[in-house]
Amino acid sequence: MKALIYHGPGKKKLEEVPKPSLREAPDAVVRIIKTTICGTDLHILKGDVPTVAEGRILGHEGIGIIDETGTGVSRFGKGDRVLISCITACGKCEYCRRGMPSHCEQGGWILGNTIDGTQAEFVRVPFADTSLHPIPGSAEEDAMVMLSDILPTGYECGVLNGAVKPGDTVAIIGAGPVGLAALLTAQFYAPASIIVIDLDDNRLEAAKQLGATVVINSSNGKAVEKVMAMTGGKGVDVAMEAVGVAATFGICQEIVGAGGHIANIGVHGASVTLHLEKLWSQNITITTRLVDTVSTPLLLKSVMAGKLKPKQLITHHFALD
Ligand code: ZN
Ligand code: ZN
Repeated sequence: MKALIYHGPGKKKLEEVPKPSLREAPDAVVRIIKTTICGTDLHILKGDVPTVAEGRILGHEGIGIIDETGTGVSRFGKGDRVLISCITACGKCEYCRRGMPSHCEQGGWILGNTIDGTQAEFVRVPFADTSLHPIPGSAEEDAMVMLSDILPTGYECGVLNGAVKPGDTVAIIGAGPVGLAALLTAQFYAPASIIVIDLDDNRLEAAKQLGATVVINSSNGKAVEKVMAMTGGKGVDVAMEAVGVAATFGICQEIVGAGGHIANIGVHGASVTLHLEKLWSQNITITTRLVDTVSTPLLLKSVMAGKLKPKQLITHHFALD
C-alpha cells in the first residue's frame, strides 16, 4: 500500500509499504477513504514532537471502511463505515474510566505518533470498539473527517476548557482549522462577540463567514491594542491559543480580562514566558488539554442535525499521491 512516511525533521515521502495486519484481538484494519493533514503533523515535521520515530506513517485523522477485525471486536464488522478518533482508548484503564482517554495507558494519541497512522491506504486501529465511531448512513463523508480531531479539539480544549458562556467576549488567536472549529462550536453558547486574530487575510475572511464578530490581522503587531480598545480596556473573558507558539500565547496573556480564561489549544514545541507578575492578581484560569474526543458523539449528533456544518472548513481535495 502507499503511505506517507516521516524521515526526520523536514523530511517526508510517499512510499510503498506492507499493508498492516491485525496484531491483537481488539484491533481492526481500516481501509482509509479520506484523511487530512493536521497542524500537529506540521509540528512533527518541524521536529517538535520527539516521540515520532523515523519511518513512522503520519496521520491521525480519517474515515474508512472496516477491512478486518480481530476476535475481540464486537461492535464493528467488515464493510462498516467508521470515523477514526485521533485518540485511541482501551476503555478500561483508570484514565479511560475517568473520561480522559487522551492519557489512556495503552492508547491516547498514538496514531501517527508511536504507531503507524492514517495517511495511508490502510491503518491498524487498536481497541477498535472504543476508538472508532459508526458513521450514520446519510452522513457526508467530508464532514466526518473533521470529527476525528479538529472539531473535538476546538470544542474540548478551547470552548469547554475556556468555559465560554452566554454574553462572553471570546478571542481566538489562530484561524487555522482548529481555531475555526473553536469558532463554530463557541457559538453553541451564544457569546456576545468572537474576535478572531490571525496573520492571514484568507483565513480571517473564512472566520468572518463562519461567524466571527470581528477579525484582526495581527501582522502589524497591533492586535493587543485593538482588542483592548474594543473591550473598553477590560480585555476578553476567554482567550483561546490555537497556534502553538510563544507569541500567540503572549497575546492571550495580554488580552485576558480579570476573571477570564486562557485556554491553550496549540501544540507547543518551545517554552513560553508566563507573566505571573501581571496575572497573579487577575483571577484568571489557564487550562491545557490533549483532546479526549469524549465529545465526538455529541458533535456527530450536532452535525447530523445540521446545527454544526464542518464541511465549511473544507476547501481543497487531493488524491493521496
Ligand atoms: Zn490532528
Ligand atoms: Zn485506557
